[in-house]
Amino acid sequence: MSTLFISDLHLDSERPAGIQKFLHFIDQDASKADALYILGDLFEVWIGDDNTDLGNALIIQALTKLNLQGVPCFFMHGNRDFLIGKRFANATGCKLLKEYEVLEIEGTRVLLTHGDLLCTDDKPYMALRSAVRNPTWQQDFLSKTLQERKMIADNIRKHSKQAIAQKPPEIMDVNQKTVADTMLEYDVRVLLHGHTHRPNIHHFHLDGTDATRIVLGDWYEEGSVVRWSTAGYQLETLPGITGQPFLS
Ligand code: MN
Repeated sequence: MSTLFISDLHLDSERPAGIQKFLHFIDQDASKADALYILGDLFEVWIGDDNTDLGNALIIQALTKLNLQGVPCFFMHGNRDFLIGKRFANATGCKLLKEYEVLEIEGTRVLLTHGDLLCTDDKPYMALRSAVRNPTWQQDFLSKTLQERKMIADNIRKHSKQAIAQKPPEIMDVNQKTVADTMLEYDVRVLLHGHTHRPNIHHFHLDGTDATRIVLGDWYEEGSVVRWSTAGYQLETLPGITGQPFLS
């Protein structure tokens, strides 16, 4: 038995093979786990819990079933799906986590986070983040029609794509000082996050002791999962997406 961690699936009804892969993972893998932690960006974009198109409905159904099977599921917001709210949580049974959570697993204190908060060198992104995380902005956005919200979200994504293309890659990685300060603040020696799409296990020294930063990968081509059992943890790559699209 083990606890599973995933992030950055970027599920999108326009890419049904990705959804198919997630459904397969929930059915074949997560259903046998002790717990599932989704560390953000499960969805390519989330414009409100009232958007229950076919892809979203299938994902919600799979998570609901997982919870009914007795596998607790925890969800942390990413920068794409930070608008996931109570309605989604109630429908699926997933428990919403804060932006930082310390989990004690097999005797180790592990700090969980999506990862965008660690990328402090990316000043324009951090400014955008505080703007869209403002409750007034969110209330205003959620009061618009689904169609209006979709247009706004498409626009933000378009601008963010252009901005990313102009940024040097190191700007979009974590800032090591932020990593160290945050780990000391939460008194942990292990940090687990996604967001950067740079799956890896980094070992370094923190205040005279060994520290580890585990980074989950995205699910664009293959899948990425951290499996934590009594034997320890493993960062695994799941095989490529081969399922037949179920949406036409
Ligand atoms: Mn992200």
